[in-house]
Amino acid sequence: MTPVALTEKAVRKARNRLNATISAEKMAGVPHAKSTQAITDPVITPFLMAMEAEGYEPQKNSAGAPLIERCDACNKSRRFTFTGAPTGEFKLCADCRN
Ligand SMILES: [Zn+2]
Repeated sequence: MTPVALTEKAVRKARNRLNATISAEKMAGVPHAKSTQAITDPVITPFLMAMEAEGYEPQKNSAGAPLIERCDACNKSRRFTFTGAPTGEFKLCADCRN
């Protein structure tokens, strides 16, 4: 049971926003190594963008990278810990939403 109403529509909107940014950079001639696309994961990036749009921040390590752990439900290592009112701390997998 997901504690947060993260809808697929919100994720889709984030993905569209991301694709628009990538297209605009390509048109502007941004080199791939410096592009948004180079640091984008097609699943994780829109997921985190949608979560942040809803007001939830992933917990990060001291280097500023989001902390991830293995998800027991889908066995992928892409489960994030979020903090945000009113739910407090909770975990959510980018792949299966568990
Ligand atoms: Zn999972």
